[in-house]
This record gives sequence, structure tokens and C-alpha cells, in this order.
Amino acid sequence: MNNSKYVETLNFYAVLAQKTAEKVDPHYSVESIIAETVLFMNATSGSIMVYDKEENCLKLYVSAKHPAVKSDNNQKGPIAKISIGDGIAGNVFKTGIAAISSSNNDNSSDTKLVRKADKGSFLSVPLRFNGHPIGVMNLNRSEGLESFNENDLASLKSVETMISSLIEKERLMNTIEENRREIAGLYSMSTILSNSKDFVGRIIEFLEKLSNELSLEHCAVIEIKTDRHQKSNAPKISPFEIIAAHNLGETELQQMFTSVSENLRAQISAPANIYQDSEVEAPFSLKFNNHGTEKEMYCLPLLVEGTLSHMLLVSRKYLKQDKQEAKKHYRFLYLISHNLASSISREKMFQRIQEDQDILLENATRNRVFLEISKDLASTLDPYCILQKAFDQFRKVIAFTTISILLYDDLDENYRLIVQPCKPISARYQKTLSDTIYNLFVDYPADPPLSRGIYKEFATFKPQTAENKSEEAFVHALHLPIIFGDKVKGLIHLARSAEDKPFNNNDLDITSQFTGIFITSIKNAMIHKRTEKLAFTDPLTELFNHRYFQETLNHEFIRAKRYNKPLSLMVIDIDFFKKFNDKYGHLVGDKVLRHVAGIFKSSLREQIDTVARYGGEEFAVILPETSLEGAEVFAERIRSSVEKTKLKHESSELSVTLSVGVASTMTTNCEKTSALIEAADTALYRAKDNGRNKVEKYTERKI
Ligand code: GH3
Ligand code: MG
Ligand code: MG
Repeated sequence: MNNSKYVETLNFYAVLAQKTAEKVDPHYSVESIIAETVLFMNATSGSIMVYDKEENCLKLYVSAKHPAVKSDNNQKGPIAKISIGDGIAGNVFKTGIAAISSSNNDNSSDTKLVRKADKGSFLSVPLRFNGHPIGVMNLNRSEGLESFNENDLASLKSVETMISSLIEKERLMNTIEENRREIAGLYSMSTILSNSKDFVGRIIEFLEKLSNELSLEHCAVIEIKTDRHQKSNAPKISPFEIIAAHNLGETELQQMFTSVSENLRAQISAPANIYQDSEVEAPFSLKFNNHGTEKEMYCLPLLVEGTLSHMLLVSRKYLKQDKQEAKKHYRFLYLISHNLASSISREKMFQRIQEDQDILLENATRNRVFLEISKDLASTLDPYCILQKAFDQFRKVIAFTTISILLYDDLDENYRLIVQPCKPISARYQKTLSDTIYNLFVDYPADPPLSRGIYKEFATFKPQTAENKSEEAFVHALHLPIIFGDKVKGLIHLARSAEDKPFNNNDLDITSQFTGIFITSIKNAMIHKRTEKLAFTDPLTELFNHRYFQETLNHEFIRAKRYNKPLSLMVIDIDFFKKFNDKYGHLVGDKVLRHVAGIFKSSLREQIDTVARYGGEEFAVILPETSLEGAEVFAERIRSSVEKTKLKHESSELSVTLSVGVASTMTTNCEKTSALIEAADTALYRAKDNGRNKVEKYTERKI
């Protein structure tokens, strides 16, 4: 090498080193280097071809022409694509050995390496990175110029290395950039999936973003439903629900799914490992017709909690055209569908937790309400009061227009029907309701059984609101038996109007719980009432007994004193009672006692006066807020009533008469009940003395 060539070479390498070191796009550096190389090598043109794995060929990377070569001359442009083994470049890549060839040198054995149309001298150098062939560098000198020789090859050694590393650098940078973009894309999509919008709102935003990102035409997220009720002979189309769709309607989706059978899930299975960077297959696709155009849609399975329950559907006109591009998209779709699936799984889990929480909360609230109801119902032992409370409380937990309770009252030995409507009800509706409940209950194995004879009472509680609803509108009904131990003792019946919601299982559940509480309270109250009755009732006459008489008298005596009201007492004795016993026997004597007791009960003021069997054939009547004169009138009415009412015994009629002594707190200065009793007794003796069948009053001021 002469001196000037040496300097030129040094300069050339200095320029190349500088180009390589520049912080510019490596592609641009390669372009500059090939341009410098063309100049330095006095070549007409030069090109770099890079191996494309996808298409298994060499593709033009960059090309350069000598500055002196005019662009409009006949010089042919570089070839864009060369198959492996084709021409000098294809062969150099295949063999990995640099080659020189010349079309004007007939002796050259390399002629076959050059395309017929190409003229001049050619030089091709393999490009390697880490020992792997990555492409070739070609130089061409046109006809008339000196052909390339071995020296030329030698001076290109370092150029080859520089270009190879720059190409690899660019490839690496592209991969990094692609990965960065993919990660950024996935990240921004994932951010949408966890934003604070509601579930559907998030999916809609997700699809919008995905459409922009991948230039999609249509997309949707659907949920595949399992329809167990489908007839076996019907065409099996998997039912689905659109969660969100972008430019896609139900008709298109129906069309798509008509072409797939019920085992849609089996057909669309998740790919084994999409993370492997190797080959990414196109997702399963379904066809549909969109305004006359046949379209294809990719179905990406979404595994939610281990089962394929959802799908991401996407379509893009040119998704298949560029293979590299398509693979990138497939990969992105697979990756993002994983995120989407986990987001749906999370949502499902969240929904379940929410539902559980709602149920817990509902149960807690209900339990609290029922606890309050229990407390309220247990606060009294009066059955009537419990019923009223039950009706009021029940309205708090369930809506109804009319509540009816049919209940066996064992004190009365009768079934009673108690109704509380929300407005006054007509006699006709009462009858309808009564008949309905009768017909319902008559089928129950009630103890005692319900019969028309003992089912006649109809008590109606005051309506709470006066709504102007037509009563015929009470169409929805719910009923439940009231069971004491193992015996059916009644029925709870709820009615709602036509415009209200029909009763459901939840209502039945609430009614059952409520009935449980009601039964406990009413049972206790009834037991209490019965015990009370037994403790204070004379079994023969069913009048109050002496004990009850004493307690009531004490109570009324205090009250009369406190409020300065009169209190009268009647003491009654059957005249010549002994003779009934003696003549007809004790049983007839008992019958006489019951006979007069019945007359007493029917003549007195219910809830006000207290009539008791004082002992033997003597009775006492407490008359609160009654003057001596008033009491006398009462006594006279009873006396005359007994006298007039004959008691049938066998073929004869027995006459019973009474003697009555009356006393009052207002006309007698008594400080104790015993004094009042004594005064009445005194009057009674007077009646006896005066010939019996008489009423006498105690009028003395003092006793
Ligand atoms: P007077 O007109 O003076 O009241 O005469 P009397 O016969 O009614 O009065 P007396 O006190 O002599 O008799 C009351 C009788 O009532 C005595 C008793 O054997 C009877 N006796 C008391 N309790 C019962 C009962 O529960 N059943 C029956 N059959 N007799 C009773
Ligand atoms: Mg007597
Ligand atoms: Mg007597």
C-alpha cells in the first residue's frame, strides 16, 4: 500500500469510527458507513441485506450509490429481496464465505453467481454477529471500472464487523422498543381494568382503548351462559350475555354462535403457553356477516376462576396481512386477555363477597328487628294485646294490605278470626276473606278440627291507613299454619293488592320467623291466661272464686277511696237451698247453682262488674262506680230474673228465689272491705228475716 492509499485508509476508518460512535439511529449510521464505503472502495453502489427469519430470505436493509453516479442513468436499483443461495449475495450468506465476481470476466467461475442482467464487478461479504450469519454487504463496480480483488476484500474486514454490530444494535433497540411499547400498552390497559368505575364501565373503557391500540373494527366481552333448560333436540347454541361491545350487536353475535355447537368451551381452549416468544398462533375465530360482508372474529378465551366463562371477541381488517405485525397483536391480545380474565375473576369474587356481606347485613338487621319484636311481644301476657302488637310489628318487616290470624282460643273453646286491614273492609269482603281462610284451614290437620259451627267470630282491628283501594284487589296471598308443639292451632294469612308484588320465598321466610316469635308469645299468654283462670275460677259455676273476689274487692275498694267514687257490694243467698239437695239430691243442687250463676253472668256489666261464688250457695257481686240505689236496681233485676226463670228438672219446673243484701261505700262509713261485706251481710239477713226473695240495702251510716 502506498502512502497516500494508507492515509486514505486511515481517514476512512477514522470516519467510520466516528460514524459508529455517533449517538444516532444505528440504521442511519449503517447508511453513512455504506455510503463512505462506496466512496472509499470507488464502488458504483453498495447495499446491506439482512436475513429475514420469517420469510427465509435476504431483505434490503440500506443501499448507497457513488456520488458521481447520476440517479437517472441506467444503473439498476438494488434488489429488495434475495432467496438464500440465489446469486452472489444469496450464496455468500449461505456459505458464510466472501466472494468476488465479475460479469465481464468470462473466465470467472463465479459468473453463475451474478444475475444475468447485472453487469460489472461484484463483491459480497457475509455479516456475522456472535458467529451467527445476519446478512451480507454487497459492493458493485460498473463495467469499465477495475474489478474487485482480494485486497479490496481484506480492507473491508473491519467495516463488516462495524456494520454487523450496528445492525444488531438496531435490532436490539427495536426489540426493546417493542417490548417497552407492549408493556406500556398492557400497563395502560390494566390500569383501566382496575380504575374506580363500575365493572361494566371499566370493560367499556377497556374495549375503547383496545380498539384504538390495535385499530380494531369490532370487539366485545361476552359471558357464556350454561343453559340447562335447553331442549335436547333444539339446536344447541350457547347462550351468552354481552357485557360490553364496541361496534358489535347481538345479531352478529347470534350469527357467530349459530355456527358453533354447544361445546363452544371445548372448541375455544386457552393456548398452552403464550409467553413463549416462539410462534404465536392466531386465536380461534368465528365468522359473521356484517352488512353483506363476511367477517371474521377472533375469540380469546377468558378463564374466570378456572372455567371458560367469558370471551374477548375482536376483529381487525388487516390483522392477518403482516405476519410479524399480526403475531405482535396476537401476543398482545393473549396477554391482555389474561389481565381481563383476572379482572373479571376479581369482580366475581368481589360480587360474591358483596353478596355475602349483604346477606350477613340483612340477617343482622332482620335478627335485630326480630329481637325487638320478640321483646315487644313478650312485654305483655294479654293475648289480645299480643295480637295487636304482632300486627303492628309485622308491618315493619313485610308489606301487606291485610293480615288475618285464625287462632284457637282454648278459654273460649273456639276458633277466632282476627283481621287487620289497612282500610275499613266491607261485610262482603269480610265474608270472602273468612270463607277463603276457612277453605284454606279446613284442609289442615288442626286440633281441634275446624268446623263451621265453631268458626263464627270475626274480630276486626282498626285499620291503620285509609287507602281507597278496591278490596277485590287483594289477590296475592301467603299463609302459614300456627303450630303449638305438634298441633295445628291456627293460620296466619297475608294478602296484597294486585298492583303489589306477589309474595316470594323471602317473604315466606320472614313470615315463618315471625310466626315462630308470635307462637311463643301467644302460647305463653294463653297458658298464663288459663292458669290465671284456674286459680281464680270456681270450677262448678265458672264464676270467680272467693280468692279472686277478695283481691278484686280490695283493689276496687282502694280505687274507689282514691278517686272518691262509689263502690257497691251485693251479697246473694239462695233461699231454702237445702231443700233442693234434700229433695232432689246434690247434683240437682249443683245444677241450681249453675243455673243462677248463668243468670248472674248475663245480667251484669261485662268487664266492669265482678260476680263470684262467695261460698256454698252464696254469691257476691262487686259493682264499681255504682251508688247504693243503682246497686239496688241491679239486685232487684237479678232477683226478679232468677224468680222468673224456672229451672227444668225432669217433668217439673223448679222455682229458685234469692235474698240479696246491698251495701255501698258512699252510704256506709267503712274503712275496710270487711266492714263493707259485713254491711251487705247485715242487709242480707234482713232480707231473710223479712220473708226472703227480697232485696235489702244497708242504709245506716255507721257499722
Ligand atoms: P236459707 O233460705 O236460710 O238460706 O236456707 P238454706 O237452706 O238456703 O240455707 P242453709 O245455709 O241452711 O243451707 C245451705 C246448704 O247448701 C248447705 C249445704 O249442704 C249446701 N251446699 C253448700 N255448697 C253446696 C254445693 O256446692 N252443692 C250443693 N249441692 N249443695 C251445697
Ligand atoms: Mg246460705
Ligand atoms: Mg240459703
